[in-house]
Amino acid sequence: MLNLVLFGPPGAGKGTQAEFLIKAFDLVHISTGDLLRAEIKAETPLGVEAKKSMDKGNLVPDEVVVGMIKSKLESNAKAKGFIFDGFPRTVAQAQALDLLLEENKTPISGMLCLQVEKQELVNRLLSRGKVSGRADDQNESIIENRIVVYSEKTLPLVEYYEPFGKHCGINGMGTPEEIATRLKEVVESL
Ligand code: ADP
Repeated sequence: MLNLVLFGPPGAGKGTQAEFLIKAFDLVHISTGDLLRAEIKAETPLGVEAKKSMDKGNLVPDEVVVGMIKSKLESNAKAKGFIFDGFPRTVAQAQALDLLLEENKTPISGMLCLQVEKQELVNRLLSRGKVSGRADDQNESIIENRIVVYSEKTLPLVEYYEPFGKHCGINGMGTPEEIATRLKEVVESL
């Protein structure tokens, strides 16, 4: 089984690259951001609650996202592998994911970390906001907060995966195709 964590700051291109990777390696895509936005659209109690954090650029509580991941893993029991996009985002989430994967004896194969300069992140998010209508992409101070939250809570995950030799840094600057080629090479070498 190939289980990939697609990692990087908001605007790094995780969603775009996930599309390439799921086709190239026949994986099931699990994006917590997409799952949460679907809950918001369906106006579920979980969605109503999550929206309050997301609109401010803060993280949704760990137990909420871990619960969503658990049910996705269970409903795709026959998958060849998974690509986790936007998850884990905290050390507690990474620990919970390891426990869930341990039950199926299919550990994380690699953590693919997209590296992008900060100004490029802000530019990409603001232009995405114009087309997607995502509220959290339209306000520069919310974008700034998301990048701060990423540095404080999510970046420590590099140190979580590094000792296991699972961290792979990838240059996330360039065209989507160039970045996809780099990622494919790394995944093939895992
Ligand atoms: P981006 O990577 O551009 O920030 P996402 O779609 O991954 O976009 O996430 C949007 C928002 O959803 C985040 O700012 C956060 O509020 C919430 N979210 C997504 N994934 C998680 C997660 N794993 N843990 C906590 N909150 C999350």
